[in-house]
Amino acid sequence: MTLGAPTWFWAVVAGLVGLAAGSFFSVACWRWPRGESLSHPRSHCTACDRTLSWYELVPVVSWVIQGGRCRGCGARVPWRYPALELVSGGLAALAIVTFGATWRGLAAAVLALTLVPVVVIDLEHKLIPDVIVLPAAAAGLAFAVAADPARWWVPVTAAAGAAAFLLILALAYPAGMGMGDVKLALLLGAVLGSSVIPAMAVAFAAGAALGVVLLARFGRGARKMALPFGPFLAAGALVALWWGPSMLGWYADRLG
Ligand SMILES: [Zn+2]
Repeated sequence: MTLGAPTWFWAVVAGLVGLAAGSFFSVACWRWPRGESLSHPRSHCTACDRTLSWYELVPVVSWVIQGGRCRGCGARVPWRYPALELVSGGLAALAIVTFGATWRGLAAAVLALTLVPVVVIDLEHKLIPDVIVLPAAAAGLAFAVAADPARWWVPVTAAAGAAAFLLILALAYPAGMGMGDVKLALLLGAVLGSSVIPAMAVAFAAGAALGVVLLARFGRGARKMALPFGPFLAAGALVALWWGPSMLGWYADRLG
């Protein structure tokens, strides 16, 4: 797939789409776990209920111009709103810069963008919504297959394998792993292919490292702290998206 415009142009487009997606995620991360509709009512200040006008919804810029406050009641608008927008826009642009305006770049952008609301919602509510992860997994799989149709079985096998691996862990150790993690693994495998192996390795290593730190800091009390695993999977996925192939290469070299 080749496109007329240069890659930087598509990276800017992806960045803008990412900013808009981040703005939507901010609303979705607030409303979805509370059972509110995503489309009605229109975006409003959570302090004074005033409906926001279109120019207050411009990602990042409106927050900066208004000094991080609601124009109606002066309530602080948390910095996480522009932060989520910037992270989403940055990841989407970076995916296109790295992998080009290609099916692979599109798959990478879908994965990176999806991880943002997944991490926020999992940290706050200890769940990973199907409504976000399943469509993203389907799109990621379709784009990954389109990127290399002759080797369609790589993303299919990686998705099924990663999900099966976490499903076994979830059945054996229900307190530590949920079905949301299993479905997230589908997305990771579909987009990352064989790099899903270093992604899992990084996720489990990071989870174990934090577990050791918490045990050292809080002793037995740490056992009662249920940590969601989604953010670790997301961290592993982002590391593997950019460095997975070289990590696999390093390991293959050592096996000689
Ligand atoms: Zn207000």
